[in-house]
Amino acid sequence: MNIESNLKKQIITSLDKTTYRNFPMVPKVVFGPGCFSQLGDILLPMRKNSEAPFIFLVDDFFENREFVSRIPLMLNDEIIFISAEEEPKTEQVDALVAQIGEKYDEMPSGVIGIGGGTLLDLAKAVAILLNNKGSAKDYQGWDLVHRPSIYHVGVPTISGTGAEVSRTTVLLGPDKKLGINSDYTTYDQVLLDPDLAKTVPKEQWFYTGMDCFIHCVESLTGTYLNAFSQSYGEKAMELCKEVFLDDISDSDSREKLMMASWHGGMSIAYSQVGIAHAMSYGLSYLLGVKHGLGNCLVFRHLGEFYPEGVAIFDQMMQKHGIQLPQGICADLSQDDFDMMINVSLGLEPLWENALGKNWKEIITPARLQTMYQKI
Ligand code: NAD
Ligand code: ZN
Repeated sequence: MNIESNLKKQIITSLDKTTYRNFPMVPKVVFGPGCFSQLGDILLPMRKNSEAPFIFLVDDFFENREFVSRIPLMLNDEIIFISAEEEPKTEQVDALVAQIGEKYDEMPSGVIGIGGGTLLDLAKAVAILLNNKGSAKDYQGWDLVHRPSIYHVGVPTISGTGAEVSRTTVLLGPDKKLGINSDYTTYDQVLLDPDLAKTVPKEQWFYTGMDCFIHCVESLTGTYLNAFSQSYGEKAMELCKEVFLDDISDSDSREKLMMASWHGGMSIAYSQVGIAHAMSYGLSYLLGVKHGLGNCLVFRHLGEFYPEGVAIFDQMMQKHGIQLPQGICADLSQDDFDMMINVSLGLEPLWENALGKNWKEIITPARLQTMYQKI
């Protein structure tokens, strides 16, 4: 559940020594409706030899759709369809790496992830593990990856998480949900084609889009805010408002949300998320509630902490007629609450960012339980 919290830890440690973290960024990006058709040209010079395939990990929503014929397969390249029903797991990464290793004599030329945050994270992890021994679970944490990943390309098909720009890949392991945070995680190339998001269902569009909006609110109101994060966060917020409150065309909306996701991801790189994320990781850990929906379920009850953000969120929900599920925590036992509260309060940097150094005086386990009970 630590996706974004790790970064802050590193920044804090570094700041104590008055040195600052040196973040990798995506070095190459192509943007524009229809630009997916350029993928073949982009990959061509990166092909190592005729025996070293490109492996395309693709959200299984696209299986048997016309889109598949546009994937630029050559020679022994392979498409592997993967369900985004569940968030990525370390053993799933290990199985994919083993499968690829057994099938090909040569190390692949690269891995291309096509889908939402789930597929983008999976492709990052597979690219790392193809060139690093052992299991994905050995690398969950901070800067544990010592050999570069193989070339990897991210192609988002739904916008909001910022996974396309971040230096982490969030994985569920045997005993923890934690990112592989490393300089080798970040994509070598990202392809932003807003047309790929045309088929996203409305509810999912809203939930994943709100992940971006909530990143902005939490970053911009946080105590860790700095000019770097603010500059990206303000732009992302402006774009989210246009997308979710103004009446703009569908094509404008897809383009702007794609860029909002990018800027929102950049904003939290150098700051931190806050209470909605801290609570939503608890929900995800105990109940398997997915990231975007979990954030929405929590955020609407956080008016006392984010009055302006929650007011805008309510307007957005109303404008798009979104009905969130109710009573998620109605039947939970005290043990269940204790587990969620433990997970949530363990994310100290998120709470500290939201409420300052004395956050423990403000958020007690009892108060947090009352907050969960509203959901
Ligand atoms: P997702 O990838 O889980 O996909 C959500 C649903 O949308 C799936 O059913 C998928 O099949 C469908 N979908 C995707 N593209 C579609 C399209 N073009 N048309 C129709 N359906 C489409 O959703 P998400 O919200 O993007 O990602 C959530 C994941 O991202 C979580 O696992 C979370 O941990 C991770 N995440 C990662 C980071 C990071 O920095 N690495 C940040 C935030 C979240
Ligand atoms: Zn998020």
